[in-house]
Parts: sequence; C-alpha cells; structure tokens
Amino acid sequence: MSAQESAGRPASVPLLDVARGNAPLQTEFVAALETVLDSGRFVFGPEVFELEKQIAAASHAKYGVSCASGSDALLLALMAYDIGPGDEVIVPSFTFFATASAVWRLGAKPVFADIDPVTFNIDPAAIAAVVTPNTKAIIPVHLFGQAADMTSINAIAAAHDLWVIEDACQAILAEYDGQPVGSIGDVGCFSFYPTKNLGGMGDGGMMTTNDEEFAAKLRLYRGHGMEPRYYHSVVGVNSRLDTFQAATLLVKMPKLAQWTDMRRENAARYGELFQTAGMDECVILPAEYPEHKHAWNQYTIRVPQGRRDALRKHLADHKIGSEIYYPVPLHQQACFASMGEHASLVETEKAALEVLSLPIFPELTAAEQRYVVEAVDKFYSTIQKKAVA
Ligand SMILES: *Cc1c(COP(=O)(O)O)cnc(C)c1O
Repeated sequence: MSAQESAGRPASVPLLDVARGNAPLQTEFVAALETVLDSGRFVFGPEVFELEKQIAAASHAKYGVSCASGSDALLLALMAYDIGPGDEVIVPSFTFFATASAVWRLGAKPVFADIDPVTFNIDPAAIAAVVTPNTKAIIPVHLFGQAADMTSINAIAAAHDLWVIEDACQAILAEYDGQPVGSIGDVGCFSFYPTKNLGGMGDGGMMTTNDEEFAAKLRLYRGHGMEPRYYHSVVGVNSRLDTFQAATLLVKMPKLAQWTDMRRENAARYGELFQTAGMDECVILPAEYPEHKHAWNQYTIRVPQGRRDALRKHLADHKIGSEIYYPVPLHQQACFASMGEHASLVETEKAALEVLSLPIFPELTAAEQRYVVEAVDKFYSTIQKKAVA
C-alpha cells in the first residue's frame, strides 16, 4: 500500500505522472545513456536498429523504420506513397492534428470522415461515402488506444485500391481480432512522445510494414532521399530517432506489456467503481469490445447534457487532472478554413462537446481511482439536490 493510500484520501490525482513509471528504472536509464555516451554513436547507434527490430516484432510486422516523431512517421509514409497535389486522403476529424497536417503539408487534401459514436474511431460507412477517383489512402486512427474497424476499412481500401496508413500513435500493443496494430494496414505509424504508452524522454517515432521494398523507401525518405551517400534519387527529409532516445526506449520495452495490462486493469476498475456508484447512468463509459484489445492510452467518458466543462472544473477543484481530447474537430480548425465549407460531421462535433479523459496511467492507485469516481458522484448529487430544491 502506498503512503497515499494508507493516508486514506489522495491530496491530488494527476492526469499522468510519468515519473512514477520512470523512477524504478533510473539506474537502468543512466547505464543505458552512459553506454551511448561512451560509444559516441549518437546517430544510428546499434540501439536504434535494435529498437526497430523490437517494435516490428511487437507489432507482428517484418520491418521497423525509426524516425523523429509520430508526426514524421505519418508524413514519411505519405511521401513514400508519392502522395501530393491532386490526391485525397481520408482521415478522421476527431483526432490529433498531425493525422491531417501530414496530408496537407504534401499539398494533398485531407478529406474528413465522421466517427462511430461508441468507439470514437473513423466510421467505415462515412469513409465509403467520401471515396472519389482522387482518393489515394485512408488513415484510420486507433484513437485512445482502441483499434479502428480494420476489417471494414481494409475491405474499402481493397475495393478502391487505396493505401491504409494506420495512425497507431496512441495504440502500441492494442489488438484487432488478435492482430497487433501496425501490421493490419499497409504501414503503421507510432509515436514515442512522453504521454504515449511507450513514451521516450523527448520525441521519437517509428513506421512498421511487411513490405520490404516499401521499408527501403521509408528509409530512403527519412534520410534525405540519399542512397548512396551524396546521391539523391528523391527529395526526402532528415528525420532520425537519436540513439539516446532508442536506448531509453529499449529499457522500457520489456515493461510495456505489463504497463498495458495495468492500464487495462485500471479501466476495468473504473467500470466497476462507476457502476457501483450508479454513475454509469450519468456519464457514458468508454466501450471495449472483448474480441479486440484496448491499450487505454486514454480513459475517455462522455458527459452529456452540456455538463462536461462544469464537471471538469469540479474535478480541478478537487485537484483531479482531466483533459479534453479534442475540443475542436480538425474540420473546424482555422488553418483548414481555406479548404472551403466542410460538410458537418455530427458525431465528431457532438463528441468534441462531451468527451472528458480521466487519469488512467499504469501506476494510478485504486485509492486514486475511488477518489476520482467519488468526485464525479459528488458532482451529480449536487446537481440532483439543486434540481429537487
Ligand atoms: C501523438 C500523436 C501523433 C503525433 O505524434 P508525435 O510523436 O507527437 O509527433 C499523431 N497522431 C496521433 C493520433 C497522436 O496521438
């Protein structure tokens, strides 16, 4: 039992506390970093290639190609498919900005599709409705750690000859019908940003694929399109995962499965606690499909009836961290206004008004979770008292 638990009520609950996961590994981190320092191989040291192998294996993909960030992974995948002006790429609007900005940056058009309200993931029917002869690819996002409907998405892609680029940045080790994300589409994109389930000590990213030729192309594009040295067949970029990041990520890799299980246990505990408190009638809990494996990067509830912001403030008053992923859908972002009017995306716009992500990190304690659920309970009992009075 932690000191906090034995003291009864936690003084505060952070949305995420990376230090709790990192602290027990301190000695290993220092040793790994020292090895890199001594080697002097700060770029493309052996740790980088070892991590590529391990991430590929974890995703059941044949090849892993590292890069500087998850955003770059998406950009490089699109570049390697020669996507550019005149091309359309179907993306969700309810996602992190990078999913669409990668498309935009190459002069192609991000075409936004609505989500399934239960999973928050891109809705295959909405994808099918916006396919045109210019469509080249689909980027399904495995949002919050839950795999998108890949069977339907792959079927649409096969019917129209489209690439499927999985944005798996939030979903490492998540599974769809027993298959890990990153090897279900044509290419998988991962991020090692510190808040992701496998978080580094800075930025980092990885692409995974089963296609040997395409893996070589990804390597070419991440290294200035240079092969051999000082000969450039294409215009690539400089996007490398540095050896220090790879070394720290390798220290974390053996823990990743256990950390994912801990997130899953926390999600199950929230479910029980909310149900016991009768709170599942006030807020809508996130759904997990038993045939797929959710990696729970976020535990995202829906707070209906316009009460989300008030509940968030109530939690903040109780020193409980929460976050809104994402408050403004991408089709409503100012930077995309020049694309002209977007068709309204009903479920996306509704989700943006209702979602609230609660603490779910692996080391979160049961006492902290009880405190979170009690605080939500208190919020609703205050409302009911007001309603009666
Ligand atoms: C984090 C994230 C990215 C971008 O990853 P970075 O490493 O921060 O560049 C892309 N897509 C999604 C869905 C993400 O959550």
